[in-house]
Amino acid sequence: MGAKLHSSTDSLNVIANVLPVRLRIQELCTRDYMRVLQKPADSKIRTLFSTAVAIRNRFTPMSYIKYLARDFERSLGNMEIEKEDKVTTDIILDDIAVQLLPLAEDLGNRNNRTQEQKAEGKLRVDSFVEQNRGSSVMVFSDGSVNEEYSGVGGCAAVLLPIESWETEMQQAEVFSVLSNSTEAEVCGIALALDMAIQYFSTHQERSYRESLFVLSDCKAAMDIVINRYSTSGHVHVLSRIRSHLRSLHSMMVDVVLVWIPGHCDIHYHDVADHSARSVTLNDDNIPSTLVTSDTCKKLIAKQVKGLWQTRWQRVNSATFDIMPTVGCKLSFPREWCCAISYVRLLLDDSLLKAHQQRIGVEVSKCCNCGLGVDDVEHFLLQCTLLKDQRQVLKQDIQTVLEECDSRGNLDLSVQLLLFPFANSHFTDRECREILSATFRFIRNSQRQL
Ligand SMILES: [Zn+2]
Repeated sequence: MGAKLHSSTDSLNVIANVLPVRLRIQELCTRDYMRVLQKPADSKIRTLFSTAVAIRNRFTPMSYIKYLARDFERSLGNMEIEKEDKVTTDIILDDIAVQLLPLAEDLGNRNNRTQEQKAEGKLRVDSFVEQNRGSSVMVFSDGSVNEEYSGVGGCAAVLLPIESWETEMQQAEVFSVLSNSTEAEVCGIALALDMAIQYFSTHQERSYRESLFVLSDCKAAMDIVINRYSTSGHVHVLSRIRSHLRSLHSMMVDVVLVWIPGHCDIHYHDVADHSARSVTLNDDNIPSTLVTSDTCKKLIAKQVKGLWQTRWQRVNSATFDIMPTVGCKLSFPREWCCAISYVRLLLDDSLLKAHQQRIGVEVSKCCNCGLGVDDVEHFLLQCTLLKDQRQVLKQDIQTVLEECDSRGNLDLSVQLLLFPFANSHFTDRECREILSATFRFIRNSQRQL
């Protein structure tokens, strides 16, 4: 990354978004521990694990893994992990095709979607609903977890019946104390199929095949349902989906999953979203289901990230003042020189005179302009030798701010220029545009840092 040899490894880890080695080892060991827990209780390896001890303060490999996994074990409490997947006749005989209709394709993702794309998304879904109303059943589904990544999982679905005089059906359920967002969406699809079966079973059977549209905003969840043969994990919910699909198939109903864009003010989707959210807040009635391996992996990643953050807060570095949180994926410029300069500015360790003087290479830390100390702040915000380039930079940033419903005049700061992600008002796309303005400035300064 072009850092100097003595630059802090902790800072480099954060800049490159690479988990520190020790924590990575902990993550891998904990995952292995989880894999062992998926084995049957009487398997040899589980017995070995339960008897593993440290001998005279020295770890055996197994006791070491157990030791590293202690946080995970604690948070799992007395919940059980879903057992390993076994190929059953269900899976082999499951050949009911599920179609995908990607309405949300080429509309960006929720972080970088523009206003026009949102409007276009709403238009597409609304006209789709209009078109199929009266001829097909449509179900909007959504899932939600009450914390980022993992937590109490809930899902909801809203069913639009065929006839206009019938009332819409709405259902929501909490399905697990510990789940993740993709899984919640898969459960939402399962709930939608469940409701459709209820609906079709109370209606007269038709003599022709018809389509059932399930609308969801999570592509990952749909992929799991469509490629359910090759997905490991999610055993419980997938077996539920399999049996629903079989019932619907025998009722002459073909299932089509419709991928719609999220957060585009689509009425029924918002209803489902709201209902899924509120059901997770009311956690009196949580079934004690199994935790899937997927959720475990996310939980482990979350715990390790938490440890990384704590560790980063203890490191006293200039990089921390700019990048206070770990786990952010930065973008880097294409040109090598510029990328190296950027990384070195983040590290507060570059060829600027203040840094060179600190390690004894330069006698004076005064800038060539004669008006201050040649450090990061001076270079980016003050140096008069770069007045013209800074003007361009200010203009660029102004344009970005104006494009996103002009949030007034923002004062330039080192953090804004080098790590705009720290400001929660900006969307991901705006942050990347601010960064490219900074890169242009570094390039135009013609200084190799
Ligand atoms: Zn200067």
